[in-house]
Amino acid sequence: MTNPPSILVIEDEAAIADTILYALSTDGMTVAHCALGGAALERLRAQVPDLVILDVGLPDINGFEVCRTLRTFSDVPVIFLTARNEEIDRIVGLEIGADDYVVKPFSPRELAARVRVILRRAGTRLSAQPVAPLPPANARPDGFTLDADGARLAWRGQWLDLTRYEYRLLALMLGHPGRIYSRAQLMELVWHDAADTSDRTVDTHVKTVRAKLRALDSGCDPIRTHRGMGYSLEG
Ligand code: CA
Repeated sequence: MTNPPSILVIEDEAAIADTILYALSTDGMTVAHCALGGAALERLRAQVPDLVILDVGLPDINGFEVCRTLRTFSDVPVIFLTARNEEIDRIVGLEIGADDYVVKPFSPRELAARVRVILRRAGTRLSAQPVAPLPPANARPDGFTLDADGARLAWRGQWLDLTRYEYRLLALMLGHPGRIYSRAQLMELVWHDAADTSDRTVDTHVKTVRAKLRALDSGCDPIRTHRGMGYSLEG
């Protein structure tokens, strides 16, 4: 974990919230606080922290409902705060998706310890904010992963943001590393459905593909220019 873990505390009783905020922040965590379930969900929709501490007895939306709604868009770890023993059965028994619970009155140190345990358990989930799913593990020896069904390509685990023709161009060349394609061949094979193309179309796309690869990795420049002949992919 490089950044301090971020915790959202959802608790309407100010004294309890203050105690938790104090305990967690002295433990090196970044803490935010919401007193109401509705405001908390709004905040969570905008930004999901590393862990949520959630009071069951909130004045507007009950904590179980907050958790159920939260689970529709995030699997962030949740620790429930409960004042009543009979609520524990619901937390443990139902599939609310809680990771742990603490019964009031509790020691802030105990809560902080539980937070640390769960953060450690969540480990890999902490820093990862995946926007796109990770590429499959069938990477080629040259570092590329070709997902023909999804018409996309990854370089060393990162998806490339390619246009349709950029993708087709690179996918074609990946099919035959080392083979030199003339501009005319590329126009026919890649741009067969385009209205009008020229040598410049090919050159422009080769240029943007190169730029996109270099943007991911400055050392990644596998397309070779063969004067008077065309292009090939390093094979
Ligand atoms: Ca309460």
